[in-house]
Amino acid sequence: MQVSESKKKIVLKKKTEFDLILDFIVKKLENKPAHQQYPHVFLPLHHFTNNKGIAFDHIEVRRGYNNQTYLVILTRDRRDFEFNDDDDNYHTRNDEDIDDNVIRCVGHHKSLQVAVDEAMQDSDNWDRCQDCNVYSENIVNHHCVSCILSQRQVEKAPDQDKFSCVICSADRLLVHRKKLACGHQDFCQACVERLRPRQCPLCRKPFN
Ligand SMILES: [Zn+2]
Ligand SMILES: [Zn+2]
Ligand SMILES: [Zn+2]
Repeated sequence: MQVSESKKKIVLKKKTEFDLILDFIVKKLENKPAHQQYPHVFLPLHHFTNNKGIAFDHIEVRRGYNNQTYLVILTRDRRDFEFNDDDDNYHTRNDEDIDDNVIRCVGHHKSLQVAVDEAMQDSDNWDRCQDCNVYSENIVNHHCVSCILSQRQVEKAPDQDKFSCVICSADRLLVHRKKLACGHQDFCQACVERLRPRQCPLCRKPFN
């Protein structure tokens, strides 16, 4: 009994790599100049994804207002950042590449460990719709609410109001039919937007 108790203490003392990275962040925060109102640490991520495989680009840790809490923000924005030591800030390198689908997941707690875990849990709520490629927290079975409602709409519409998309084979409403410059038109808007290269899949004629 005595032995196992002391063993337990030794196990508790040993720091995991996760503990060490938290210590590293806390130390970085403490070394921030006093004039910074809300000191923050910004770490780029290279291959971290949530449990659906969505990549996040950086993790940011801030001290809360009263310096008693940590705010952890996991962000996906597909921007390429560079850190500038002079003004202690990060800047976007290529603005053209900004993804519309910015995701920010937040954890807030007096324990940094809990705050990080919260932010990661929050990130797991996000998934990407297989149909329209939009990122959303409201996804059921890999389909977003909009696509599920659209599908319902199509099911209820009479046959003369629908067509079948040549690319995705799904039935769509005629209002979503996209006509290309070549005259071919049995494509849905979403599929045309995703076409690379920008040419008709039937006759290969380029379009804008
Ligand atoms: Zn969708
Ligand atoms: Zn389609
Ligand atoms: Zn064509």
